Amino acid sequence: MSLPTIDHSDEIYEDPLDLMDEIESLKKEKDATLLAHFYIDGEIQEIADFTGDSLKLARDAVNVTTSTIVFSGVHFMAESTKILSPEKKVLLPDLTAGCSLADSCQFGDLDQFQQKLRAEGRDFETVAYINTSAKVKSLCDWIVTSGNAREIIDRVPADKEILFVPDQHLGRYLQEVTGREMILWPGSCMVHEIFSVQDLLRAKKNNPGSLVLAHPECPHSILEVSDFIGGTEKLRQYVMSIKEPGIFLIATEANMIYPLQKSAPQHTYLPVPGIMASSGETCACNRCPHMAKNTLQKVRDCLKYGKPEIEWQPYFDQAKEVLQRSLLQ
Ligand code: SF4
Repeated sequence: MSLPTIDHSDEIYEDPLDLMDEIESLKKEKDATLLAHFYIDGEIQEIADFTGDSLKLARDAVNVTTSTIVFSGVHFMAESTKILSPEKKVLLPDLTAGCSLADSCQFGDLDQFQQKLRAEGRDFETVAYINTSAKVKSLCDWIVTSGNAREIIDRVPADKEILFVPDQHLGRYLQEVTGREMILWPGSCMVHEIFSVQDLLRAKKNNPGSLVLAHPECPHSILEVSDFIGGTEKLRQYVMSIKEPGIFLIATEANMIYPLQKSAPQHTYLPVPGIMASSGETCACNRCPHMAKNTLQKVRDCLKYGKPEIEWQPYFDQAKEVLQRSLLQ
């Protein structure tokens, strides 16, 4: 499997430091707060008012006091922010920044599958990973992030079956840690799917004493050989808890190394499988092409022109109920 390349050739070069200054002053002028996911380029994280995983950012967004939020991330994240803060103007630097995982579970397909299960007399609740469209969320009972999944699954009554969408790898991992059987939707993330066990084991051998940190969106074969598994915030907390300098092989989106480095600079972080390219050079195959659509120029432009904006949709009302119950209560 290969990922689409990240092409910014249509952008005219502008000095990143000038762009960062411009963004800082536009934030004040437009009464805006900048939120950036951990998978976004480090230079955007550097000037963001809040950085974090989906759960932390969803919670941070609710407490923002400015009239505008610029969400540097992907579409479903900006949608969730709008749903939880309807009175705010929510901007996404590139409206086409989607998510392969969210795309793997479409509204019509899920609706049909749920109807089929009900017709068979199955008594279930649908638990969705936050990486789903708002339309899909409107069909679900619970929303989880990798940070709160365990706690939410414990809230599903024991006599109910669980339909988990859309990430089969996260679902399988949650089955193991919670002991609950689940009906798994066959979706996956294109970035986490691409790691190779052989390359990872080779990297471990080449870096004696290194530890593998993996996101639960990785396939089972990668999780099996990992030393620590967690969502992005959990990975950050983990490296901070280790004082002695160590070497960590990071099996998640490569930009995650930026917050790790910032929070625990005593360690060395190596992207997986970046160091395994036959030439010995770092490769960019573990970059999310959707997250990479967020550039400093696009952040500046959306602040400057007040668009693209996430507009309220009729199905947001239903999605709001489930998001609030799952993330804020
Ligand atoms: S890293 Fe994967 S799950 Fe995250 S936004 Fe990109 S495609 Fe979606």
